Amino acid sequence: MIRFGPSGHSASFYAEGHKHTPEAAKWLRDKGLNAYEYSFGRGVSISQATAEKIGAEMREYDIALSCHAPYYINLAHESDEEVVKSFGYIERCIEAVKPMGGERIVFHPGSASKGRAAALQLALKRTEALLKRLDGGGYSGYILCPETMGKKGQLGTCEEICEMCRLDGERLIPTFDWGHINAYYGGSLKSAGDYRKILDYVFSRLTERQARFMHIHFSKIQYGQAGEIRHLDLTDTVYGPDFEPLAGLLKEYKMEPVVICESRENMAEDALKLKAMYENLL
Ligand SMILES: [Zn+2]
Repeated sequence: MIRFGPSGHSASFYAEGHKHTPEAAKWLRDKGLNAYEYSFGRGVSISQATAEKIGAEMREYDIALSCHAPYYINLAHESDEEVVKSFGYIERCIEAVKPMGGERIVFHPGSASKGRAAALQLALKRTEALLKRLDGGGYSGYILCPETMGKKGQLGTCEEICEMCRLDGERLIPTFDWGHINAYYGGSLKSAGDYRKILDYVFSRLTERQARFMHIHFSKIQYGQAGEIRHLDLTDTVYGPDFEPLAGLLKEYKMEPVVICESRENMAEDALKLKAMYENLL
């Protein structure tokens, strides 16, 4: 089943008097959404009681929960000691999503500012070590989702993310952030053919499960020389990308991704718009 939902809370969630994430489950279901991404972008801090409450509500209303790991994770750092800190942040994410009922942990692979090829080799080595460490620490059973990135200085082109995911066909599932991809290449996603080229590459490089059930981030994103500048909402007509061509391909390729909308302020409303675009094809 394909799922749609927001990353974080829409302005309207707060405007309607809601304050806390457990209240979001019913709110999302009533709108017709069935996924939600919880951000630990600035750090993993949540009480066990709150995590359990969120988990109970999300289960009750059948909302698939994923989480976004801290932005400062860097598997391409030259220092092994620094990388061990990143491993620790991912373990803390797993500990947090366990009671929340989540399975997918999205993370940014790291910095490529000192050269892409070397950064990728480091990230591959560290991802292998991370998977081993998670097994040894009783953290298996969770899915790590390295994300395609939007800035030139970051590791995470489509090819780099596929290379990382090839290390484990079960526990690594790519996050394709199409706004990031479009921003990285200065507006490369215009036609269905532009999306198709990337999807064909993914299906040729990864397992069917990794490709069909990929994690998706979607929003329109302003970009410049160095790539991503800021997230917009779906009313943007300048930067893109447009979701319609991708929606057609998701259907054609019989994909069942979790589609998380990362629009500014109106992420839930925009997630519904994405869902409507997809359903209009049926
Ligand atoms: Zn991200």
